Amino acid sequence: MTYLAEAARCLLDAPGVKGLQSAPVYETRPVGPAGPGNFLNTVFALDVCLSPQQLLRIMQHIEVLLGRPRGGNPGGAGSRSGARTIDLDILFFDDLVFQNDELVVPHPHLPQREFVLRPLADLDPEYTHPELGLSVRELLAALTPSEQILGIVAGSMSLAHT
Ligand code: AMP
Repeated sequence: MTYLAEAARCLLDAPGVKGLQSAPVYETRPVGPAGPGNFLNTVFALDVCLSPQQLLRIMQHIEVLLGRPRGGNPGGAGSRSGARTIDLDILFFDDLVFQNDELVVPHPHLPQREFVLRPLADLDPEYTHPELGLSVRELLAALTPSEQILGIVAGSMSLAHT
């Protein structure tokens, strides 16, 4: 929980970030091979005057600040399967559809990830996926219910500029 709160604070304090609203925090079981423990997931809605690439750089910097080395060994602390302190992704960027070597927007795995869609739906259920033309609520309804989501463990974080 501390990592999410610290990430929210770092994002809000970053240059070009004017506001941050958070969804509740969900505890979820890891997908695929069992990891070291459960995850905490939430979604932040950011008000920014940044390009998507600038925002990605800021998020990667925060990941490193909070202890996630980039380009770690397979299975190591920086990898998808290893113990990770934090993983920040851009889900949507307004209604932008964009792809290059380092960034894909909307996030390509978003429609399959209940642990992302659930907190996203708490923030804005009618937000429409710009490529699929489906709302977050509709994307969530299209998923087969899983037992991956264990429940809400904390309410929305309320943060303001200091
Ligand atoms: P991850 O392990 O989920 O942090 O993914 C890391 C890599 O995904 C980064 O090197 C990014 O360049 C790339 N990437 C592509 N699209 C996105 C996105 N929408 N948000 C965050 N990272 C992305």
